Amino acid sequence: MPKKIAVIGAGASGLTAVKCCLEQDMEPVCYERSGHIGGLWYFNDECLKGQASVSRSTIINSSKEMMSYSDFPAPKEYPIFMHNTHVLNYFHLYAEYFGVKNYIHFNTEVLMVSKADTFEQTGQWKVDVRNRKTGITETNVFDGVLVCSGHHADKNLPSFHGMKSFRGRTLHSQDYKGTTGYEDKRVLVIGLGNSGGDAAVELSRVASRVFLSTRSGAWVFSRVSESGKPSDMLFSSRFFTKLQNTLPMSFVTWALRRQLNQKMDHDMYAIRPNFQPGQQHPLCNDDLPNRLASGSVKLKTDVKRITENGVEFVDGTFEDDIDVIVLATGYIFGFPFIDKSVFEVENNKLNLFKYMFLPEIEMQTMAVIGCVQPIGSTIPIAEMQSRLACRVIKGEVTLPSREQMLADIRKKEVIMSHRYVKSQRHTIQVDYGPFMDEIAELNGCKPDTKALLFSDFKLWSSVVFGPCTPYQYRLMGPNKWDGARDAILSQWDRTVYPLGTRPLPITEEAPRSKAWLYVIYLAIIGYLFRCYLFG
Ligand code: FAD
Ligand code: NAP
Repeated sequence: MPKKIAVIGAGASGLTAVKCCLEQDMEPVCYERSGHIGGLWYFNDECLKGQASVSRSTIINSSKEMMSYSDFPAPKEYPIFMHNTHVLNYFHLYAEYFGVKNYIHFNTEVLMVSKADTFEQTGQWKVDVRNRKTGITETNVFDGVLVCSGHHADKNLPSFHGMKSFRGRTLHSQDYKGTTGYEDKRVLVIGLGNSGGDAAVELSRVASRVFLSTRSGAWVFSRVSESGKPSDMLFSSRFFTKLQNTLPMSFVTWALRRQLNQKMDHDMYAIRPNFQPGQQHPLCNDDLPNRLASGSVKLKTDVKRITENGVEFVDGTFEDDIDVIVLATGYIFGFPFIDKSVFEVENNKLNLFKYMFLPEIEMQTMAVIGCVQPIGSTIPIAEMQSRLACRVIKGEVTLPSREQMLADIRKKEVIMSHRYVKSQRHTIQVDYGPFMDEIAELNGCKPDTKALLFSDFKLWSSVVFGPCTPYQYRLMGPNKWDGARDAILSQWDRTVYPLGTRPLPITEEAPRSKAWLYVIYLAIIGYLFRCYLFG
């Protein structure tokens, strides 16, 4: 009998969880409380409580090759950094190709997951669901549960002194859908994460003034780097990661600071935080320097108090006539539908092995998927976690002992607390490449670079020196994919493909080498030197 698995949510994580269940000949039943797939990448004009959604203009910060599922590269025609509509289309293509949609029950909310009566013997779970259209509830028993409900649904809504007296409009960035209605308004955006940066930049094109308040400051990264190539592809290679971990940290941060300051002097723009780049979840924004330079976004310190129509900042400055306040202050997360006796999240802390497994239970039949905040893309990580979870539930992979799992959780906590500034946004941070490797190692699909060196030099050099794209994890081990090698060797072709929209004119004369200039220059210096010596 195939194992019956409940998948909660049909976002980026849930879709791949269903696909991985099918790959393992298990029987998934996916419950999605909304009427669509794609989770937060489905743009919704309506503000629905507890339902995450991008804004109309959101463009993904991960390049298409780095965010693709490992056996399904995004179409070559798609832009390098996709608009949310492209991201959603990609999910549809994936779901259709692997027949995922047949297993999704839309408009069905999971109300409660608890241990089945036979849990101690079978590891089974009881799942209560309600159809949101008909109101009908039902309970089913499953051999396993994959929790794919996301972690950007519940708003973090800090309260500032005097906030209740404010007469203008206040909203959280999750409810910011686009610029309509903000024309000629004076807007304050609070929070300088990626939501705050995106909202401030976009609003500054229509609003009369945008103030951007940050209590910490930020180091600003760019999506594109040298020659317009995606930064996440250039700086994610195994070689680069190794080098970074080998060199002294002080040198690495110095080099990074230097690079970031070359694009925008963080002191001159008064945006520099009191910590190093790398100690905060990266802010990725190619437009912010321009908007600051043009004065259309004005940076402010933390908010001290809010009045009926204005805001005082901690540096004593005051901005009057504020029409709208956007709280881009991030999210809190939890799993309210899981029985508290099973596990609970406090202050955004997830005490799970690899942010997935409950160390305290004997039979590993539940896993949380995609509840990480990587430096890099979440989507392939969710897939890698799903692959592992399915094999663990099936009994093909045995997890380490309870003590080892707890030790790993503590170790990660300590590393995180040393590396990142203390903030509730830094509780589930992981580095994309090393974390993918960690899980792949447990699952037996980490690429063996030594073996590749002797069997396939071309592929080896791509795997070691090229971007650590998800296809690497389909080269060997369980559920390997025959197309992985080709996908790796053609990843740069697919990346640049959408840019080739115009045939370039043929240059009539090849540009002269600069070497000639140097030769002439040296000859003149030599001549002057000779004149000086010999008169
Ligand atoms: P979600 O997309 O939130 O999907 C969860 C699904 O579960 C939803 O459809 C929801 O309806 C459903 N659900 C929840 N509770 C229940 C329940 N009780 N019953 C039934 N269904 C339920 N990541 C990147 O890798 N790169 C990026 O550039 C990037 N940009 C981002 C931009 C924004 C604005 C935000 C907010 C996040 C971004 N992320 C990015 C992170 C994002 O979390 C992932 O890209 C990805 O969307 C996570 O997918 P998910 O399926 O885990 O969660
Ligand atoms: P976030 O990363 O948690 O950032 C929240 C911001 O609010 C931080 O600057 C934080 O400051 C500030 N803040 C929180 N509480 C505050 C308080 N009480 N007073 C003042 N400031 C406060 O949240 P987010 O920007 O919404 O991003 C959420 C996730 O979505 C991230 O993973 C992000 O990368 C992703 N995202 C991606 C895109 C994209 O791809 N284009 C767009 C938006 C979001 P501190 O740093 O001081 O804590």
